Order: sequence, then structure tokens, then C-alpha cells
Amino acid sequence: MEDTVSQHQPQKRVVVCGGGIIGVCTAYFLSKKGAAVTLIERSSIACAASGKAGGFLALHMCDDGPLSSLARTSFDLHRSLAEELNGAQSYGYRPLTAVTVSIDESEQMSNNSNILPPWVDGGVKPGEIIGTTETTAQIHPQLFTRALLAKAVAEYDVKVVIGKVKSVAVEGDGVMVNVDSSGVIGGDAVVLALGPWTSKLSEVLDKFRVYGKKVHSIVLEPKDAEAITAHALFGTYYPVQGADPIDPEVYPRPTGEVYICGPSVEAEIPDGPELVYPDPESTQVLKKVAGIVSSHLKEANARVTTEQACYMPCTDDELPIIGEVPGMNKCYVASGHGCWGILFGPATGAAMAELVLDGHASTVDLNCFTPTRFATDKYDI
Ligand SMILES: Cc1cc2nc3c(=O)[nH]c(=O)nc-3n(C[C@H](O)[C@H](O)[C@H](O)COP(=O)(O)OP(=O)(O)OC[C@H]3O[C@@H](n4cnc5c(N)ncnc54)[C@H](O)[C@@H]3O)c2cc1C
Repeated sequence: MEDTVSQHQPQKRVVVCGGGIIGVCTAYFLSKKGAAVTLIERSSIACAASGKAGGFLALHMCDDGPLSSLARTSFDLHRSLAEELNGAQSYGYRPLTAVTVSIDESEQMSNNSNILPPWVDGGVKPGEIIGTTETTAQIHPQLFTRALLAKAVAEYDVKVVIGKVKSVAVEGDGVMVNVDSSGVIGGDAVVLALGPWTSKLSEVLDKFRVYGKKVHSIVLEPKDAEAITAHALFGTYYPVQGADPIDPEVYPRPTGEVYICGPSVEAEIPDGPELVYPDPESTQVLKKVAGIVSSHLKEANARVTTEQACYMPCTDDELPIIGEVPGMNKCYVASGHGCWGILFGPATGAAMAELVLDGHASTVDLNCFTPTRFATDKYDI
């Protein structure tokens, strides 16, 4: 990817709406390529799914489908960004092993498995290794998003505005973004990266659908943090006999914390991220899972520091929506990244920067992600 636009072209002014990982990565790559970027976030940077996700990255888990090149390109970009930003120190970037397990409290197993680490000493049956330190890694998603934005602000002069985007209009050759805190902000192009709130913007409401799935998570601080090694667990657990299983995911972090998230459920999203609250019954199940998986994560041995919920941005065909909005010249969307938005952030941002500034993306082929796939005849596409 070329880093800068030609010196002879006038600098493009681009407004990026949304300060989650997708908006921040887009702002970073746009500004690195020479655009004058204003990022608008209604609450705080990475306050929603981008701050509350697991942060798991996989090279190969989207292979055999249209997401493969987005995933592989982004995995590599994460690795190079971690070198550039000293990610191991600043946002917990590290390769790790990923293992499937079935979690069952009636199965008090003695861990003599050669695929599970010693700290997984509870009611757990090992499945298989699904990722190695070559193919899987992790970051702390909120620290990553904030570190990348800090670099974009310091080195490429990105401006950050805290305010709610109320409307977006295309006027002549430019765009007008109306923000509650600061009035109208003009630009040559606008990128909508509002996660599950994208479809709340009435201008795009009937062009495609991004909806939310609510997911709960907890963070634990075990007393004996050094015993917990870099192994991610992808579990299956039956909370009640005869009921549907849930698929908890357990991610130890290099800080010594252990993050656990639960199942996703489609739900109406509240007006803003500050109005998202966890349901105590859902986080209770995750605490129970923690205690079954490991003696180090039982209530007596680990403090629960965080109980939270957030909304995953989802689409009807389970592919992200990345491209120019039908019928709205110079208005772009990057949203609906589902359960892989932390992985896909850098490649989405790099490809979106190329699309906006060069007219086409070469980092990743965006054709199958275009919003025109949902368009009806009434739009001029
Ligand atoms: C529990 C959980 C675990 C996950 N784990 C992983 C994982 O391990 N690996 C992985 O790759 N992915 C993971 N994901 C998926 C990933 O978190 C999301 O796909 C990704 O964070 C979406 O980023 P985003 O920037 O599109 O949306 P968001 O993070 O939701 O950001 C959107 C931003 O827009 C702002 N906004 C909304 N409306 C307005 C407005 N009108 N004006 C201004 N700003 C506005 C919001 O405040 C918010 O900050 C997980 C998701 C969940 C829910």
C-alpha cells in the first residue's frame, strides 16, 4: 500500500464517524496516507464492543470463504503494527495457543492431557488444538484502539471531536456531518463506522441493516496470575441439563487478568453505549464457568474486576459492509464486522483509506463487502 497521496493533489478532508476499532483504524490509515481527518465519537474511544471484546486474532479461521483475505491481511498488519507501536508492552500483543474444550462440572478430571496447560485443572475435557503461536495471537482491544489513535493524533494530526453524529448529507462535491456538540463539520468524504448504531442513522436505514447481538463478559484477577499461561479456551458448556449449550471463551491476558465472554443474543440496542448494562444472571453463569474450568479462577482465588455487556455489529449475510453507500456519493460505510472486528480492523482501515483516497482498494478486494449487494433499483449505483 502506498503511504502518501501525491504532493500535487489538494489534501482531502475526511470525516470518520465512530471511535471504535473500525473508525480508529480507518482514521489512522487515511491520515497516514495524507488525508486531513476528523474523527467523531459520541462517548469515548473504544467504549463499546471494541473495548469489551476478547481481542483474539486468527490467521486461518476464516479460510475457505470470502473473509479469508481480509483475515489473513489483517493478521499480518496486526503483527507489523505491534512492532511499530511496541504492542507487546503497550497493548498486550502476544501469540498464543488456542484449544477447544468441553466444560462439565460433573467431570472432575485430573489434567493429564498434553494439550491443556496445568492451570486448567477443573471439569474440563480437552478437544483439539485449533491455533498455535504461529496462527493465533491476542491484543487488549481497548488499549490497542487507544494506542493507534494516539499515534494518529501525534504523528498525522487527526482531530478528535466528542459528540453525537445526528445526520449526514451529501452536498455538491462534499459532505456535511451534523454533530450535536459542534454543529456542521464539512469534508470531501465521510466514513460511517458506527458499529451496531450504523442503522440508527436515518440516511442509510433503508439501504442495508446492521443489527446488534448482546454479549456478556467478565474479567478476573487471579491471585496466582503467574500460573496462567497463554492458552485461549473455546468451550462448550451445558448450564442446565437438557438445555442448549453455550460457548464460553476464556482468554488469559499478559497483564495477569483473565477475560471470559459468553453467548450472543440478538437484542434491540439502546440509544448509546453508556446505556448498555449487563444482566446479573448472564455474568453469574460466566463466573460459574470460571470456577469449573480452573481452581485458580474460583471465587476464593480470583477477584471479579469487571462485569459488562456490549453489542456485536451484525449483518443479514454475516459479512461486513465496506464501501460507498448506494446513492450517496463520497459517503462510505465500514460496519457489521460481527465476531471478528478486532481481527479485521487494520485491513478494513487500510482498504477503506485506499478506496476513499485512490478510488479503489488494493490491500484487500472489497467487492464482496460492497453495500450495493443489498441495494434495490431505486438507488443510483
Ligand atoms: C463480547 C465480544 C467479544 C469479541 N471478541 C472478539 C475477538 O476476540 N476478536 C475479534 O476479532 N473480534 C471480537 N469481537 C468483535 C468486535 O469486538 C467487533 O466486531 C468490533 O469491536 C466492532 O467495532 P466497530 O468499531 O465497528 O464498533 P464499536 O466498537 O461498536 O464502535 C462504534 C463506535 O461508534 C460510536 N457511535 C455510535 N453512534 C454514534 C453517533 N451517532 N455519533 C458518534 N459516535 C457514535 C460508539 O460510541 C462506538 O464507540 C467481539 C465482540 C464481542 C461483543
